[in-house]
Amino acid sequence: MKNILEGKKMIDLSLDIVPSKGAWIQFPRALVYGGEAVPTRIETIATVEKDGTFVQRYESTTQAFTHYDAPAHFDVNGITNEKVPLTQLVNEAVVIDMLHKQPGEGVFAKDLEESGAEVRPGDTVIIRTGWTDKAFGQKLFWEKMIWLAPDAADWLISKKIVALAQDFMTDIPPVVPCEHCGALLPNKELCPNHYKFLPNNIILIEWLTNLAAISKPRVLLVALPLKIVGADGAQCRVIAIEDVD
Ligand SMILES: [Zn+2]
Repeated sequence: MKNILEGKKMIDLSLDIVPSKGAWIQFPRALVYGGEAVPTRIETIATVEKDGTFVQRYESTTQAFTHYDAPAHFDVNGITNEKVPLTQLVNEAVVIDMLHKQPGEGVFAKDLEESGAEVRPGDTVIIRTGWTDKAFGQKLFWEKMIWLAPDAADWLISKKIVALAQDFMTDIPPVVPCEHCGALLPNKELCPNHYKFLPNNIILIEWLTNLAAISKPRVLLVALPLKIVGADGAQCRVIAIEDVD
């Protein structure tokens, strides 16, 4: 009998989750609205040597490292994490290449149109820039981020997609360097694209890595978040499954 994965390849698209002070592994909420830069902590609370079992305590925000946003993240009437249908999290995805984009550049509707990618209703769209691989976890990621223009968000919504997956910023930069001193200052307009996508029930799968390993224009994208009830989203293990030639 044929193995169900015969002729298929699995590609891991998830960042390593490691202890972090918290400033650059998630939205810079301390800079933007004085919020807390919650660290990611991984602590051992029992060891095999001492206690007969190895157990750890894990602490993080829902929005650090590779994660997704449920509609409730920006919509008070939006569904929370546990209610997001599996059909949105596990879905056929089309890859749009934006690997030519340089640090600090935006991705516009014109770029998506000119990519020639065929986006079908019900698709998940993967936009690939390589930015997470280059700069995730560093200040540089926010200083010079590759970002998504609001007209590109409108273009994607008009295509009736159900999820957007990416390795850059799904929105305009939330912080911009001061012209005079270079310090990162909050952008006056905050996250217009999140206010477009999430009330339209389009989930956002954010900060994938290793997207260059995908070799096919269409793949099965699998993003499985922890089933935290009432959450705005959650960290996910994300993989692509594609045919082997
Ligand atoms: Zn998010």
